[in-house]
Amino acid sequence: MNAALLGAMRRIVGRSNAVDDPEVTAGYAVDWTGRWRGSTPLVVRPVDTGEVAAVIDWCAANGVAVVPQGGNTGLVGGGVPLHGEVVLSLRRLAGISQVDAEGGQLTAGAGTTIADVQAAAEVVGWSYGVDLASRDSATVGGTVATNAGGLRVLRHGDTRQQVLGVQAVLGDASVVEHLGGLVKDNTGYHLPSLLCGSEGTLGVVTAARLRLVPRFEQRVVALVGVETMADAVALGGLVRRTVADVDAVEFLTSSCRELVGLPVPLGEEHAVYVLVECAGHDDPTAGLAAAVGDLPAAVAGPSEPARRAQLWRYREAITEAVNQIGPPVKLDVTLPADQLARFVDDVPGVVPEGARTWLFGHVADGNVHVNVTGVDPDDESVDDAVLRLVAARGGSISAEHGIGHAKQPWLHLVRSEAEVAAMRSIKHALDPAGILNPHALLP
Ligand SMILES: Cc1cc2nc3c(=O)[nH]c(=O)nc-3n(C[C@H](O)[C@H](O)[C@H](O)COP(=O)(O)OP(=O)(O)OC[C@H]3O[C@@H](n4cnc5c(N)ncnc54)[C@H](O)[C@@H]3O)c2cc1C
Repeated sequence: MNAALLGAMRRIVGRSNAVDDPEVTAGYAVDWTGRWRGSTPLVVRPVDTGEVAAVIDWCAANGVAVVPQGGNTGLVGGGVPLHGEVVLSLRRLAGISQVDAEGGQLTAGAGTTIADVQAAAEVVGWSYGVDLASRDSATVGGTVATNAGGLRVLRHGDTRQQVLGVQAVLGDASVVEHLGGLVKDNTGYHLPSLLCGSEGTLGVVTAARLRLVPRFEQRVVALVGVETMADAVALGGLVRRTVADVDAVEFLTSSCRELVGLPVPLGEEHAVYVLVECAGHDDPTAGLAAAVGDLPAAVAGPSEPARRAQLWRYREAITEAVNQIGPPVKLDVTLPADQLARFVDDVPGVVPEGARTWLFGHVADGNVHVNVTGVDPDDESVDDAVLRLVAARGGSISAEHGIGHAKQPWLHLVRSEAEVAAMRSIKHALDPAGILNPHALLP
């Protein structure tokens, strides 16, 4: 351990928040899936923006690389120190302030969990538009840095569309802040958009001004059985065209249903299940039932919150169930609507024999989570085969999880040399010493 680094960090954040005990730091060095495992000499846990800026200032001056980390639920290895970097944990920057109940906005510290943002929004009669199964750990800083999507993108958009402003420490330790929350504000480059999805490579997000969305009490969930992925895509389209107030249209294959260990939901097994949630000020059940028609379906209406949660378990329990098999290869991709069904049908054919492919996702956004188990997680031939198939079909190699380390070698499939060069220029301008997550995102 570099004594100067330890001494400087202890002076800035205090002895107890500059952690070098290997038993503690090990927990910050492995990702949620267990696939990405590194090591770090030090975990630094600042409590406010001033401390973050002081840490970055010292690290930039001394050429020490830093990996920002929030809830460590990221799935592409971007938040763990794979090259011995210092971990900058933002979890202590938690808290909600400046709640505007009329305007529907609040400011949240980077370490605030998404569940806490949702709870704070509810208190003032609103809701937060981003929701994801990792809500109890994923943080505001991490979701901004990855531009997280989640279960309600269809209705409310991704994180970028919720962020009205940010406070962040750039790589040269300067603090940028624009937290006024003006909805209309055309005053030059939109730094919040740039920081959204930058995966800790341009700046450390310390707070965000978030827009809230209306809170709808009348909710209905339907789990519908269909026989092919093409049927699932068609149902998704029909629901979006004909039903008002659609919040989410998800899908899972029958093998995922089996894996989560929940009973066959509709009397007999179906090849694919589509989960639709609608929410409005009026009960949306009739509109949804009309779209579902004669298809086999389990429906839970506004007065059945427990049953609705039970139906959601079929979809939300998959990520954890896959992880219990062992570290999976996780590929989160998007396809154009007209390629989605063919891709889901074809993808098991491109993984090695003996591997299991688990397919689920957000059918209305074309977003498929391709999870592969039964292969060595370091065997990149699976990533290569699947991501090349995605690119050949006009899709994106990352729908919502980001590039991190997992997708770096394939960025060229979907981004031109000129685009990558422009990204490098921006990186150099905002992080001239190149200390912010230097091994993530850009190859
Ligand atoms: C069960 C489960 C379900 C999930 N479902 C979804 C889903 O539906 N949709 C989705 O999009 N994702 C999903 N994820 C992935 C994950 O939750 C998101 O990527 C989330 O945004 C990560 O937040 P975090 O706070 O855990 O960030 P971390 O994992 O700690 O970090 C992620 C990245 O952000 C950077 N970072 C973290 N904090 C900051 C900061 N303050 N400033 C700058 N950079 C920072 C890190 O360096 C890293 O590159 C899921 C994960 C799990 C485990």
